Amino acid sequence: MPSYTPPARDMDFILHDLLQVGAQDIPGYADLDRSFTAAILDEAGKLASEVLAPLNPVGDREGCRLENGVVYTPTGFKAAFEAMKQGGWNGLDLPEEYGGQGLPYIMGTAVGEMFVSANMAFNMYQGLTHGAINAILTAGSDEQKATYLPKMVSLDWTGTMNLTEPHCGTDLGLMRTRAEPQADGSYAITGQKIFISAGDHDLAENIIHLVLAKAPGGGPGTKGISLFIVPKFLVNPDGSLGARNAVSVGKIEEKMGIHGNATCVLNYDGARGFLIGELHKGLSAMFVMMNEARLGVGLQGYAQAEAAYQNALAYARDRLQGRDVTGAKNPNGPADPLIVHPDIRRNLMDQKSFVEGARAFTFWGAHLLDRGHRLGDKDAEGLISLMTPVLKGFQTDKGFEMAVQAQQVYGGHGYIEEWGMSQFARDARIAMIYEGANGIQALDLVGRKLAQDGGKHVMAFFEMVKAEVKAHEGDERMKGFVEPLKTASKQMQAAGMFFMQNGMKNPNAALSGSYDFMHLMGHVCLGLMWTRMAKAAYAALDAGAADRDFYEAKIATGRYYMARQLPACAMHLARIESGAEPVMTLAADRF
Ligand SMILES: Cc1cc2nc3c(=O)[nH]c(=O)nc-3n(C[C@H](O)[C@H](O)[C@H](O)COP(=O)(O)OP(=O)(O)OC[C@H]3O[C@@H](n4cnc5c(N)ncnc54)[C@H](O)[C@@H]3O)c2cc1C
Repeated sequence: MPSYTPPARDMDFILHDLLQVGAQDIPGYADLDRSFTAAILDEAGKLASEVLAPLNPVGDREGCRLENGVVYTPTGFKAAFEAMKQGGWNGLDLPEEYGGQGLPYIMGTAVGEMFVSANMAFNMYQGLTHGAINAILTAGSDEQKATYLPKMVSLDWTGTMNLTEPHCGTDLGLMRTRAEPQADGSYAITGQKIFISAGDHDLAENIIHLVLAKAPGGGPGTKGISLFIVPKFLVNPDGSLGARNAVSVGKIEEKMGIHGNATCVLNYDGARGFLIGELHKGLSAMFVMMNEARLGVGLQGYAQAEAAYQNALAYARDRLQGRDVTGAKNPNGPADPLIVHPDIRRNLMDQKSFVEGARAFTFWGAHLLDRGHRLGDKDAEGLISLMTPVLKGFQTDKGFEMAVQAQQVYGGHGYIEEWGMSQFARDARIAMIYEGANGIQALDLVGRKLAQDGGKHVMAFFEMVKAEVKAHEGDERMKGFVEPLKTASKQMQAAGMFFMQNGMKNPNAALSGSYDFMHLMGHVCLGLMWTRMAKAAYAALDAGAADRDFYEAKIATGRYYMARQLPACAMHLARIESGAEPVMTLAADRF
């Protein structure tokens, strides 16, 4: 059975050596000193490794079941959910006013990574609730906040998001679910939603569904869409639970992974719903939830890769096959461990350098969100908005790829369910699809985000990279970081230039290269993170840090990423510059 060890040391490095959270001017950050964050990570790590991780294969094997309209989660999920509730983990970064602890989002991110690595399917019950809370915080009335938030923050009630319908996934303008106004000011919601994560279960006494539906008078397409709160059980004025609402589970989807999470078809048959936010402006309220959700899904990508990597590493140290070509490393044994072989090391280094780079990128993203929310820093908001499709799309593609590579280290045993490696790959796969499939993330990046606010944010990003490069010019130790970063950043600029020169007259010229651009930019972002991490590691070594092994490993891992991954940018640029012609020439009927 796979095991999980919380990467608290690496998180400490990112929080303190890299981002220096305690020295930031963001409200709440001054409290984040090393011992405080270590105490939180330690507690979260115990829950993750001792309670959630052992349940991961159980959830995978058992899945959820629907009996007489009631959804049951796998054995042990209820007790684990109770432990998560008692620990107050959902409220860690939520407002104290509603029962949370008010810590910065970056701490929720660190803790969230541990929970997701340990048991992604389980953590989605809490993760979806967290997103729903944010939507209510942003768009809800004071009364709605008072009614729903305390119970949701405590996890007595959970939340869901309901966008998808059978004929309407990416294209929300095709939505058919209707909201009819009622005399008492509520709405009657009728329609079918599919693929709803955590759609029903036995973990909480109520479920607060956030549902997108079309109310009369909104116009065609996405314009008429509004957002509604539709509780599973209606809530009485005194806060107690009232009648069962007219929402029922049609079925639980059979799926490739995340079996422990109930992905439901939900049928709304005139269910009572309450408008949240402005009428016909439902999408913007939902997008608040989706931006955080996209960051959370990007985190799922590398968090699954982390768990898979840990196990692949242990296996590579343990499994004896073949001899080191430069001389036996285990001469008294029948063979050497797998880790001596260059190709296994290449595989492990790919995983390690991606996971650590992605962790830094995600924590940096969370820090930008904190700057936006807590300081009102508009530049940080613009930057994180630009980065969101990259965090989601690049990291989930790579996360899946790395989970598959981890499986490869096990050879045939990786394909056998008993070892648990296939679950990481199967669970990681969904992150490439939901919250906007990765092709749509690329479209958002190239079609919208690059030009947002007149291209101000992407220009700021280029300036940031340039400043980083300049800061280390002439520093021999940093050469292996700065030069690849400089080259990759120029390639990213050349790609942007190609889009500007060709995209207006032929949008297909830009969109044919959008996926490559998302990956090119992902590598530049991780290259920037690795350059900064190398700088921080050298600084710690120069200051006489005790655990030299950690910092030296950090630098070696970064060098690997820069030398072995950044060259992919040249390939992505070449594909982008080939334009629409190779992609669009073949007529649809000639495929
Ligand atoms: C396990 C699971 C859990 C989910 N959880 C939820 C949930 O909790 N709530 C919820 O509302 N939904 C949920 N979803 C739905 C998920 O978000 C959608 O499946 C996803 O958004 C894609 O929609 P679709 O499946 O209809 O694909 P489609 O929209 O039909 O897209 C099919 C493919 O075409 C591409 N495509 C579509 N339009 C374009 C375009 N204009 N340009 C280029 N490419 C395009 C897409 O990238 C995709 O690859 C879940 C799905 C699954 C499988």
